[in-house]
Amino acid sequence: MAEDLYGRYMAAARAYREHEQQCTSCSSAARCGAGQRLYDLFSQLQDAYLARQRRG
Ligand SMILES: [Zn+2]
Repeated sequence: MAEDLYGRYMAAARAYREHEQQCTSCSSAARCGAGQRLYDLFSQLQDAYLARQRRG
């Protein structure tokens, strides 16, 4: 369901943002292992969500 995907996308965005704010190893130029995994998940969900939006 689109709303489920949106919810997961928002949750992943929030998780990554919260990690980035707390983590001293993460910056716009580099990420720690955990930060990279959170970012990868966010990125995948964002791509899936935006692809679905484009299809209507
Ligand atoms: Zn980090």
